[in-house]
Amino acid sequence: MIIVPEAVIADLITPEASFTAVERVFASMAARSAYNFPVIREAIGHADALYGFKSGFDRAALNLGLKSGGYWPGNAAKGLTNHQSTVFLFDADTGKCRAVVGGNLLTALRTAAAAAVSVAHLARPDAKVLGIVGAGHQAAFQLRAVAAQRPFEKIVAWNRSPEKLETLRGVADELGLGFESVSIEDLGGQADVIVTITSSHDAILHGAQVKPGTHVACMGTDTKGKREVDNDLIAAATLFTDEVAQSTTIGECQHAIVDLTIRPEDITELGAVINGDHKGRTSAEEITLFDGTGVGLQDLAVASAVVELAMSRGVATEVDF
Ligand code: NAD
Repeated sequence: MIIVPEAVIADLITPEASFTAVERVFASMAARSAYNFPVIREAIGHADALYGFKSGFDRAALNLGLKSGGYWPGNAAKGLTNHQSTVFLFDADTGKCRAVVGGNLLTALRTAAAAAVSVAHLARPDAKVLGIVGAGHQAAFQLRAVAAQRPFEKIVAWNRSPEKLETLRGVADELGLGFESVSIEDLGGQADVIVTITSSHDAILHGAQVKPGTHVACMGTDTKGKREVDNDLIAAATLFTDEVAQSTTIGECQHAIVDLTIRPEDITELGAVINGDHKGRTSAEEITLFDGTGVGLQDLAVASAVVELAMSRGVATEVDF
């Protein structure tokens, strides 16, 4: 069995390799050669923790396994990340455990890669201004991955505590891009691509604030009750997602489904666009929206890429198991 600890992963996998792994597995999901198993998420009644599993099988890549972990709110006080996760990969032919891989950095990379894949396939080719809504742990990963997909010149960003935007300003500087902290109305008025990555339970971005031709990647909503955009925006947009079942229950589209603004058939898997089975964006005026809910197969895809890289560079630890 191969062990790849958290500490070596940053030197192994790049945003580009994460992009390739996630794009491939979205395509496999849409071709029905990969599927996610039902998600388990439980409040365990200890340390205020939320714990669960995301799992699945990609028959094309022979990736079988799960990501196990969750949220421990007291971790920061112990010098640890509140979100903790580990990926377990199994041999699809024998069921033996193939690898154990640290899942914390990989979660951020695979989430940012999902938004980047949506931008690569759905945003207007001439997009110049990138808007980021949110400034938490994930936001800088999103900025790095998405900024590489179009010839962006400027970043506009909003956070409910604007002083937290300084980290994003630093990343924009590093990438040689202009940076402006703006109101949400101004962000919608300027941005050609918008990434929302917050833990909000109320709509922050409204349809009336978004200009024609924008691509919106909603990445924060991964649980029942969360919400980042209003139903006017959902109704105005052509809708895409990683997985329709998650989009309608725990993703950004859950609210529009409940009040019958949309039906599940209105949402297309991004993999269908990647595979050429759906045309994706059809005009420069169309608003496209990707509901990135986060699926277990994304975790397995990037973990498998890490195992290959660790083995090829001789930094994987192998144990008899
Ligand atoms: P974080 O706790 O580091 O940051 C949270 C961000 O949300 C901050 O910018 C904060 O200001 C903002 N926020 C919180 N409540 C808000 C509110 N009511 N109104 C406006 N802004 C609010 O979290 P993070 O690690 O950056 O993750 C952001 C979100 O993305 C989380 O909700 C997380 O569960 C989700 N997430 C989704 C995926 C996926 O695959 N879709 C993967 C990982 C994380």
